[in-house]
Amino acid sequence: VTIARVALPINAEQAFDYWLPAGLEVKPGSVVRVRLGRKALLGVVVACTEDSAVDAARLAPIDEISPLTPLPADVLELAGFVAGYYQAPLGLALALALPPLAGGVPARRREESPLALTVAGRAALSQLAGRSSIAAALHAQIAALPNGLTIDERKQLSVAQRRVLSQWRKAGHVAAVPALRDSASVPQLNLDQRDAAAAIIGKLGTFAPFLLQGITGSGKTEVYLTAAAEAIARGGQVLVLVPEINLTPQFEARVRAALPSATAVSLHSGLAAGDRRAAWQAAYDGTAALVLGTRLAVFTPLPRLALIVVDEEHDASFKQQEGVRYHARDVAVFRARQRDVPIVLGSATPALESWHHARQDRYQRLLLTTRASPGATLPRTIFAPDRDARAQEGLGSVLLAGLRRCLARGEQALVFVNRRGYAPSYKCTACGWEAGCPRCSARLTVHRDARQLRCHHCGHIEQLHAACPTCGNIDLLPRGIGTQRLERALASALPSARIARIDRDSTRRRGAFASLRTQVEEGTVDVLVGTQMLAKGHDFPRLTLVGVLGADNALYSADFRATERAAALLMQVAGRAGRAGLAGEVIVQTDFPDHAVYRALATDDYDRLADTLLHERKIARLPPCAYVGLLLAQAHARADVDRFLGAAHAAALALEQTDAGVEIFSPVPALMARRAGFERGQMVVQSNRRGELQRFLTRWRATLAAVPSSRVRFAIDVDPMGF
Ligand SMILES: [Zn+2]
Ligand SMILES: [Zn+2]
Repeated sequence: VTIARVALPINAEQAFDYWLPAGLEVKPGSVVRVRLGRKALLGVVVACTEDSAVDAARLAPIDEISPLTPLPADVLELAGFVAGYYQAPLGLALALALPPLAGGVPARRREESPLALTVAGRAALSQLAGRSSIAAALHAQIAALPNGLTIDERKQLSVAQRRVLSQWRKAGHVAAVPALRDSASVPQLNLDQRDAAAAIIGKLGTFAPFLLQGITGSGKTEVYLTAAAEAIARGGQVLVLVPEINLTPQFEARVRAALPSATAVSLHSGLAAGDRRAAWQAAYDGTAALVLGTRLAVFTPLPRLALIVVDEEHDASFKQQEGVRYHARDVAVFRARQRDVPIVLGSATPALESWHHARQDRYQRLLLTTRASPGATLPRTIFAPDRDARAQEGLGSVLLAGLRRCLARGEQALVFVNRRGYAPSYKCTACGWEAGCPRCSARLTVHRDARQLRCHHCGHIEQLHAACPTCGNIDLLPRGIGTQRLERALASALPSARIARIDRDSTRRRGAFASLRTQVEEGTVDVLVGTQMLAKGHDFPRLTLVGVLGADNALYSADFRATERAAALLMQVAGRAGRAGLAGEVIVQTDFPDHAVYRALATDDYDRLADTLLHERKIARLPPCAYVGLLLAQAHARADVDRFLGAAHAAALALEQTDAGVEIFSPVPALMARRAGFERGQMVVQSNRRGELQRFLTRWRATLAAVPSSRVRFAIDVDPMGF
């Protein structure tokens, strides 16, 4: 009897044995449906064997083999690495590599971008000019439209014409063009870009990590696409990771414009299950030449993988914060090494981890030092006091004057504050009472339109109080500035301006973000107000003024990465101004203009700031100058958390006798000690050497299984983003 050892997506270390009914065939990587107790689960076969430690009579059979193609050996190995490195069960790591198997037939692709002739199409179809046929008429129509045939225009076509159009699409004669300005942009590289692309292309076929550091607007995407085009031309596949779903349509449009004949697919959690499965299969079969996705796409099977790109590599969203706590950028680097291909990490403000590697020559740094659009220069930075007596609801006089000038020129402005809602706190002027969340150690945010107080950590909602619950005073004040308050203030200060707000509240509806984006591009919005959703990657050509409020809040946080993050965010936001040849201006309201972060912004010198921060981390022995493992525990009662962490600490100390080189810290409450009704605690272990920490964590985790923890949920976070 053949026995299949199956890893299941549950929180258990071991794999489970099942017998294989006659006629069924599996191999390592096969996806199978089995029962565990009463539950039916999908698992991955990790080994086939003849004998089991379990009595043969007690083994259950495999119920069904999934039609999904078995995972290839390199993806099994990748999942094994992730499970080992991030201290997670193999079954959970393998589950990351599978597309969703239930539900959702592939939705019919809604094609909304206009279709235009490609360069190849122009040449191939030129003989149609002047003829009289269905194809010739269609050609004449489409050739006369430089911005392409829109979806509405396509609906007017006859059935026969639509059939011709779809043949042309398959042949690469026509392709979707991104709306507006991108339509004419076949990448024209400047010297920096050409050198960078050549360096990457020169390493195709070998493992070579690159840090592509380009100032905002310097055209990193053109470098990726040029290198990708070459990798694809040589028969390879390219994997491109981007930090968030909202960026994929825009990136996809640019890929289609630059590589019209290459098949590109997207993979992210916002897709219907059927679409994701289809995209996964196209990548697996090798029919997709380019896979564009968020962090989960790093596990996609790619038989002819030739190049990996991680765009905005510093972005924290590449790190998964629950379940298997992997960092997609770091997994991507492992994968590039495993598959012997180059990897490009791109950013204007590299993560200190990547910076550290580049400084030690483990990564080759490629620099883009000028803005790519003709005539575009970096914006001028102006600092204005945040405590301004003439301020209107947080909007200082300098910023207001700047906004008025910008609007008078007919240009667009962006005002950034990284807090959604109306105000981040609600306070009694008489006794100092402040509205707090009953389930978290956090303040409640005022949402004035809904007349509610909301917790942004657990979702708790209560009605806005009419009087102070402590002293009865009816004079309760919203304190601080959120996006909704800013939107109102702008509307009253600039009555003729058309204002749009972009944050998680205003973009909750499907498609809302894309539609706001289109409005900005079409120029029907004068002033944008928003959170960091606006900071990443978006390119609005008529946007020339960026105002920043409330940035000082981030500078004095207990989080050791706060300064690095604040700098990255500010430089990203500031980088939205003046990208297309119009002079840009950034007005930052701060009471600490001499802080290193603001100096870096004003002089556009991220390198110096990064070196300073790296030096501080070295002295403080913090990542990336030390390797950290974090044990997180939570329970309803603080005593349970304390008892568990106390026992875990004792177990760690006992191991440490034999494991020199690992430092063990005492348990402490988490930065947010209470969240969603759970008391939270943590303890840190760290080492100067990655390998030693790894060995320690593996042994420690094995002992944790014996620590009584019935009421406690715990997890190990390797390379945590904060602690
Ligand atoms: Zn009061
Ligand atoms: Zn809460």
